[in-house]
Amino acid sequence: MAVPQSVQGDKPNLLGMTLPEMTRFFAELGEKPFRAKQVFRWIHHFGVDHFESMTDLAKSLREKLPTVTTITPPKLMTSQESKDGTRKWLLDVGTGNGIEVVFIPEDDRGTLCVSSQVGCALDCTFCSTGKQGFNRNLTSAEIIGQLWWANKAMGRNPKDERIVSNVVMMGMGEPLANFDPVTNAMDIMLDDHGYGLSRRRVTLSTSGIVPNLIRLKTRCPVALAVSLHAPNDELRDILVPINQKYPLTELFAAIKDYLEAAPRDFVTFEYVMLSGVNDSVQQAHELVKLVADIKCKINLIPWNPFPQADYQRSSNNAIHRFREVLQNADLIVTIRKTRGDDIDAACGQLAGQVVDKSNRKTIALKSIPA
Ligand code: SAH
Ligand code: SF4
Repeated sequence: MAVPQSVQGDKPNLLGMTLPEMTRFFAELGEKPFRAKQVFRWIHHFGVDHFESMTDLAKSLREKLPTVTTITPPKLMTSQESKDGTRKWLLDVGTGNGIEVVFIPEDDRGTLCVSSQVGCALDCTFCSTGKQGFNRNLTSAEIIGQLWWANKAMGRNPKDERIVSNVVMMGMGEPLANFDPVTNAMDIMLDDHGYGLSRRRVTLSTSGIVPNLIRLKTRCPVALAVSLHAPNDELRDILVPINQKYPLTELFAAIKDYLEAAPRDFVTFEYVMLSGVNDSVQQAHELVKLVADIKCKINLIPWNPFPQADYQRSSNNAIHRFREVLQNADLIVTIRKTRGDDIDAACGQLAGQVVDKSNRKTIALKSIPA
């Protein structure tokens, strides 16, 4: 099979296959393409993970499928609900590792924050996922499995309004460091026979792995958020170390190019507010200059604390002063509301359970394109 990231144990896992992959798989079994479509819909529309319930398949096929394949979602470990309605699930992905997925309900939408890796190798200094170390990339089944679980846990019925209307790839990990599984999972999110989300409602957030951002433009253009966090290379080299490899000039050129194909004509810059580090008025002016010729929105994120971190969240005054400078330059600025912090579900608090494998971290970093 040409779909190694969908393999669970020794049998291919249908959960992580895109529709074209599943169609090829069924062809190899001597089955017609519409059979793949039926099974794909059972899994993603109806949340079914056993073949006996797929009542419109011939009995012989229902009996054959479990002998050659499987539908294996990650296992649910814990489920928590915040005072503000935010929900968080910890999913078991084996060998002591857990990943977190968070649902944030708002008046006009429901956003699911999805993880792409167990930990993260990029080690941004202010991020608790980074501080947890890195274990491994998630498979496409484990990535789409988070949306599958959220719909199941919240009782999605395909005839109802969609509960999850938006997905943000902003959970644990760097999505562009796990390119094929992430883009395959996003294909399933976008597929009308899958979750039918529009490209505008799926946002990928990256710290800026430039060669893979260039690939994303043709492979699977979705809405884009970039973790900027500093107005110049000198500071960004420290806060977001991958900047040493892909500095701002290269990153901005890639973003501008990406926007030609993107479903939204702007990029969202995320800027975490760290007291005394990146939140001065002078740095706000520098940021205005930096983004002057790129269509963007700026999302200021009050830093969320975690144990053993050396930073402090900027004061409300500092955040508002910073915003004012940007707004006076006609930039669109939002301040991210902190949601779910009573259950550690806020941005950057997603630590899951990571068995750190430093040797794998080195391997992961080497696999990032030069
Ligand atoms: N790896 C990707 C996506 C995951 S992080 C990226 O870096 O973009 C999602 C967002 O949360 C990023 O903008 C990240 O910089 C921010 N973040 C990380 N740690 C944080 C913290 N402790 N407080 C607030 N935001 C944080
Ligand atoms: Fe990784 Fe993103 Fe955290 Fe940086 S901010 S360590 S890229 S998850």
